[in-house]
Amino acid sequence: MLLGAHVSIAGGLHEAPKAGKWIGCDAIQIFSRSPRMLRYTKPITEGDVRLWQEALRENGIKAAVIHTNYLINLCSPLKRMVKVARDAFVEEMERAQALGVQLLIFHPGAHMGKGEEKGLKLVAESLDACIERANAPDVVLCIENMAGQGSTIGYKLEHLRKIMDLSKHPERLAVCLDSCHLFAAGYDIRTRDGYETVMSRVGEAIGFDRVRAFHLNDSKGPVNSRVDRHEHIGKGKLKEDTFRFLVNDARFATCPAVLETPGEDPEFRRNLKLLRRLVKP
Ligand SMILES: [Zn+2]
Ligand SMILES: [Zn+2]
Repeated sequence: MLLGAHVSIAGGLHEAPKAGKWIGCDAIQIFSRSPRMLRYTKPITEGDVRLWQEALRENGIKAAVIHTNYLINLCSPLKRMVKVARDAFVEEMERAQALGVQLLIFHPGAHMGKGEEKGLKLVAESLDACIERANAPDVVLCIENMAGQGSTIGYKLEHLRKIMDLSKHPERLAVCLDSCHLFAAGYDIRTRDGYETVMSRVGEAIGFDRVRAFHLNDSKGPVNSRVDRHEHIGKGKLKEDTFRFLVNDARFATCPAVLETPGEDPEFRRNLKLLRRLVKP
């Protein structure tokens, strides 16, 4: 795994790789725009791209991924909101393309009472519409598995499979696995046996080649709690063993794997040190 953390773009995109280096990252995750607003954002200029790519190089960052805006709900039952979501998603794709970032990680969304089947179908339709509209041919869309809070879909591996099956462009889709979300959704990865059982289900439902990125978070909530609350590595319900299994899993050796634990850069640095200690030489 290429280990790292989610870093801030406050002060400009080019600040993120610097923060990444200070934390000790091989990989970083960023928001390419404010994660909590859907309104118009400043376009990315050629100057921004140059500074960003220089900063990646200078700071030794081997992989960068982008997480989309949290407010995008590709399966909202409100027609107007689906349109807003798709417009924002297309913009996210084009920003990723401009920055030379291949992996765009997103949440499938919440059906808000309309049912999971309808939600999954609408997500696939939204993805197809965005893929066909965006000028972003190199961007791979990574569906993130969810904890299953409220009416969010994507908390079962089969949901992720279903979205890929329903899409007309499955070759443009991949998966990002979040350890906290897996556990909160009922996938018990605390022991070696549990981990291998869950991973064989990942292999069957999704295929290891389609798992392209990871979020490494411990979980405040117990197994199957459907609670999405991240905790520092080793301080939550998962303990260190799960992360030892993950960081040493040869199937995921080339995947960027970023922390989204609480706190700021000093806490990320501590968590990342711990993860690196777990890597077997
Ligand atoms: Zn996420
Ligand atoms: Zn989460």
